[in-house]
Amino acid sequence: MRIFISTDIEGLSGVSSWEWWKNNEKATTEILVRHLVPVIEVIKEYDDKAEIVIVDSHSKGENISVLDFSEKYSNIFLINGFPRKDYMMSGFDNTYDGVIFVGYHSLIGGGGAMDHTYSSSSIYNIRVNGEPVGETAINAAFAGEFDVPVMLVVGQKEMEWEMKRYLPDTVFVPVQEAVGRFATKNALLHDVDRSIRIGTEEAIMRMQKALIKPFTFSSPIEVEIDWLSSSIADVVSQMPIMEKVSPRTTRYIVNNWVEGFRWLLSAVYMSYLGQR
Ligand SMILES: [Zn+2]
Repeated sequence: MRIFISTDIEGLSGVSSWEWWKNNEKATTEILVRHLVPVIEVIKEYDDKAEIVIVDSHSKGENISVLDFSEKYSNIFLINGFPRKDYMMSGFDNTYDGVIFVGYHSLIGGGGAMDHTYSSSSIYNIRVNGEPVGETAINAAFAGEFDVPVMLVVGQKEMEWEMKRYLPDTVFVPVQEAVGRFATKNALLHDVDRSIRIGTEEAIMRMQKALIKPFTFSSPIEVEIDWLSSSIADVVSQMPIMEKVSPRTTRYIVNNWVEGFRWLLSAVYMSYLGQR
């Protein structure tokens, strides 16, 4: 069994704001590891030869290191650092059996703490085929193009809408709830551990019974991005695929989401040039 785990931090229990993270980076690392250990242990109990690739996908991918994992685990790999191709899905291909998202957060405007979609400083909203999407659907559809399902999502309670809309068969374990954009109600870590163990067991069971279908966007895929400022739209519309449809909105159309995902990341990277 090969499992791909993409990690973020905004949807971890205990992380209330980016300022809190900056002031508590060591604690955040420990918290992230405490969310990952139950996932790893349940997978290894099921198949001790399972290969697990963990992709550190918050900010510059410097949140966890190889030192954070006990030596009792084997056949586990860590992808970290930035920049890197396909960012939150770096190294992903069709050789995986399942995908897991840990610490994921709601789409921008979705009500979760620190809500954003890929860039809090560039993007106001992203719609695919007219519907709002966040990182969960965007990344799940990338895996879906390789015919691989997302088996488990651990993150913010406010992701419920996205889970029902895009990943209704995926096991969802909420561990944190917004009290405000920079305030959260957090489950204590022994309860988090228990819920994630139960969730991972359920996810493996659903996978084995083929109850979770890979998620894909229906083609042709129309992507509209509302940028935070018209200067970003000015820069991004230089990309031949991008059409500016209003001063702050660009649109592109693709036939598959490997390509669509890569155009999206290209536009996000380019958007930083338009921030002035
Ligand atoms: Zn993040």
